Amino acid sequence: MHQPVHMFEITGRDAAGRCGVLSINGRRLETPAILPVVNPKKMLITPRELAEMGFQGIITNSYIIYRDEGLREEALAKGIHALLDFDGVIMTDSGSFQLFRYRRVEVSQREILEFQDRIGVDIGVMLDIPTPPDVPASAAERDAGETLLRAEEAAEFERRMLLTGTVQGSTYPELRRRLASRISELGFEVHAIGGVVPLMEDYRFAELVRLVMPARQCLGHAKPVHLFGAGHPMLFSLAVLMGCDMFDSAAYALYARDGRYITPSGTLRLEELRELPCSCRVCSEHTIAELRSLDAEEREKLLAEHNLLVSLEEVRRVRQAVHEGSLWELVERRARAHPRLLEALHALHAHSDYIEALEPVTKPRAFFYTGAESLLRPAVRRHLERLGNIELRGRELVLLQEAEKPFSRSYRLSSSRRYHICVVSQVFGIIPLEVEESYPLMQHEGLEVPEEAQLRHMRRAVDEYAAGFERVHVHTSLAEVLNVEGEVFESHGEFRADPDPELKLRALADYQFGRGAGRMLFSSARAEYSRQGMLRRAYSDEGELLATLRPEDGVLVLTIAGARRLLRLPPPMCRVVVDEEAERFVREGRSVYARFVKACDPAVRPGSEVLVVNGEDELLATGRAVLSAQEMLELGCGVAVKTRHGCR
Ligand SMILES: [Zn+2]
Repeated sequence: MHQPVHMFEITGRDAAGRCGVLSINGRRLETPAILPVVNPKKMLITPRELAEMGFQGIITNSYIIYRDEGLREEALAKGIHALLDFDGVIMTDSGSFQLFRYRRVEVSQREILEFQDRIGVDIGVMLDIPTPPDVPASAAERDAGETLLRAEEAAEFERRMLLTGTVQGSTYPELRRRLASRISELGFEVHAIGGVVPLMEDYRFAELVRLVMPARQCLGHAKPVHLFGAGHPMLFSLAVLMGCDMFDSAAYALYARDGRYITPSGTLRLEELRELPCSCRVCSEHTIAELRSLDAEEREKLLAEHNLLVSLEEVRRVRQAVHEGSLWELVERRARAHPRLLEALHALHAHSDYIEALEPVTKPRAFFYTGAESLLRPAVRRHLERLGNIELRGRELVLLQEAEKPFSRSYRLSSSRRYHICVVSQVFGIIPLEVEESYPLMQHEGLEVPEEAQLRHMRRAVDEYAAGFERVHVHTSLAEVLNVEGEVFESHGEFRADPDPELKLRALADYQFGRGAGRMLFSSARAEYSRQGMLRRAYSDEGELLATLRPEDGVLVLTIAGARRLLRLPPPMCRVVVDEEAERFVREGRSVYARFVKACDPAVRPGSEVLVVNGEDELLATGRAVLSAQEMLELGCGVAVKTRHGCR
């Protein structure tokens, strides 16, 4: 089959969201992207103006062009880019919207696909059967069956444009999951999730999450995913966190006609406004009184322009959040704007396993607590699970209350062979002193005084953790506040002992690489400290450098000597297995491309330090994973591991 020339490269990631670049026909679309809907018959704002505002792509309706003889002939003669006077990426819908409204269109799928391709569209869309929410299950099944048949037909179609396969399924998560998984096998270059506009219009955001997530999970990681009709900026961060890459907005125009003023956290009516709470071009050049006094058409255009600019601004804010690792903070902040959005955030936590598997282990930005929902972020659970990797044979647990970080310096304490000293944290539950530098334990901001939800969280974490110890010592203040059982003490001085670098290194390695790693890597190791007394480097007894502890996030970075020791862990732990074709390059220290990855430890996350090996489990290199395990196996392009040291 003829394959259009294109590429989708992922450039940043956070939670299940990503930033990327879709290249097609020499045009670039940075994702997440918002594509304004352009009505070819009535342009409120011209595509040229949209390009000047900064939009790299638009979406228009090929069915409307096809049905209008004048437009059709012009499009066929000049191409869609000249017709619309827009040189960016043009996506076209195929009449599904009309099917949705009127239940019929006067064109076959084949005709409309051929037409989209002939007029030079960059991204076409199959003619799926949109099913509204809340229809009987039998009707949703029937429509989904028809959509699948059409998807199979569309996938066979020879073309130059990219083609979008759309998932429907009404309000039935299981049906959406099934259809998505079939559609993902058909080789579309873009995937879409459709039929959710009425849910968004009715603020049924929790249901939106329950329907989008199962479909999204089955669509894989290699292709961009478009969420049809998600045009309101209040939803962008949530949709991106779920793994959607593209949106379209008709809202900017529909709202403008209706006198509605979009903000990143909701919609206001122009007549209710006394101020313009925005500094876009429109809002800084006009007062509210001026806007009101304009004639309807002029006001509509200015309002539409404002609506577009705030949408674009929010997309940029979301992209920035993905790159710096603060997408959860942004979603939690947006969720405060409306109770329905808060419910959507709660619904999202049901999918935290899926999201955790994609989320980076270390980020450029600190973890900010924004409220009780922050305790449900994957990073918190991941931390508590990783604690289970640390070997603690026969030690006694000592629990202290939080202090200024680093805790070991505040208390002038460190864990010893007898006492495992932990701080009870309002955000992370339990923080052992051995691993306190690890991201995000050192790099987080909480409250001065914990709130009720945090106290429950702390109590639960302590109960679970303390169950593994025969003796537990609890500081008196904690014993009171948390009602924790154990031997109460007042002065922590009795637990003071000389720092044990090997103990600390082993705990760090267990926590980062998995159970048993500490024993492999650091049995008989020496440590070097910074002038401030922080552990920085680990050497073998023979004086060979094994690893350095990166100061900014407490990650152990391996040398080749360290990697050789870690290789004694049973496969697939910490491994990325590459094809023999790539072996020579990787040994020379070049990065590992995803298309050469043959297998991978399922525990690998973006940011994990990994061992790169060949099929015989021989060490080729060490480096930092850029992708999660799932993505490495699915993505056909891009770097999977940034190699640090090759092994010649
Ligand atoms: Zn404005």
